[in-house]
Amino acid sequence: MSLDLTPALSRDAALRHLVGVFEAAGLANPRGEARFLAGHALALSPSDLILRGGEPLGEAGARALAEAATRRLAGEPVARILGEWEFWGLPFRLAPETLVPRPDTETLVEAALGLFPGRETALRLVDLGTGSGCILTALLHERPKALGIGLDRSFAALRVARDNARANGVGDRAAFLCGSWLEALAGPFHLIVANPPYIAAPVIATLAPEVRLHDPLAALDGGADGLEAYRAILAGLSRRPDLLARGGALALEIGYDQGEAVAELARQAGFAASAPIQDLADRDRVVTLRPSLPIRGEPRTPRAGASQTRAGSA
Ligand code: GLN
Repeated sequence: MSLDLTPALSRDAALRHLVGVFEAAGLANPRGEARFLAGHALALSPSDLILRGGEPLGEAGARALAEAATRRLAGEPVARILGEWEFWGLPFRLAPETLVPRPDTETLVEAALGLFPGRETALRLVDLGTGSGCILTALLHERPKALGIGLDRSFAALRVARDNARANGVGDRAAFLCGSWLEALAGPFHLIVANPPYIAAPVIATLAPEVRLHDPLAALDGGADGLEAYRAILAGLSRRPDLLARGGALALEIGYDQGEAVAELARQAGFAASAPIQDLADRDRVVTLRPSLPIRGEPRTPRAGASQTRAGSA
């Protein structure tokens, strides 16, 4: 089924046509994707798309919609075509150097917030491999007294992360650093979060083309067994215990089958891992870590927040 979008076609008719073409192409969510692309190409809000659906596409609209649909049919994900995607209810601009934010990663934000449940806490936090800055921005948004650093190896990603933090009103509490994991940092931080690359290299070829061909490899590739980033982060922390403040904790996104392996790496580095926390699809997605021994000899009391998070996010 080929694309046939003429300027005289009404928006409603164009949408129906697009849904049919997307269905025939086997896309998983033809209706939703057609709506997103039409709204973007015609610069209409979802409600205007409905209320003014009888109006014709027009010359520019027909061209823009055909271009967006052609890109989608060639395998580009909707988020890349829009150049922006929503996470934690906030808009995030994307670049080739950033992952498309995943709903699964909201589980990481929830778990991290659960570790420090007081909204007014003056947290210092760092997001390792910040990408679009979505995790950092969501956390700063929920903890208005917090200060955070977004760290990434990619300067291009950092530029986008900075713009996203600014656009979402937290730019004055965020700083951005180019570096590899912990090496560029001076602490101490209360909270260290990361959604590091964790796909085992041999598995990458089996991922959906939307991910394999359009997400940055550096944000996916976790080395031969998928665990290299966790090793680097945990080894770095055992060398630099000063990076974690008293009572400090980590929240890490993990692959659905990596809970045990990451807990073992954590143990070897002197950390105790929580039981894995599940994402919306009920797959293990996050672990939180605390030093097994109190840092600097300070007594440490368990926090109610950690176990509440686990119960609340499954
Ligand atoms: N969850 C992502 C995926 O399924 C992977 C992101 C990552 O490696 N951090 O593609």
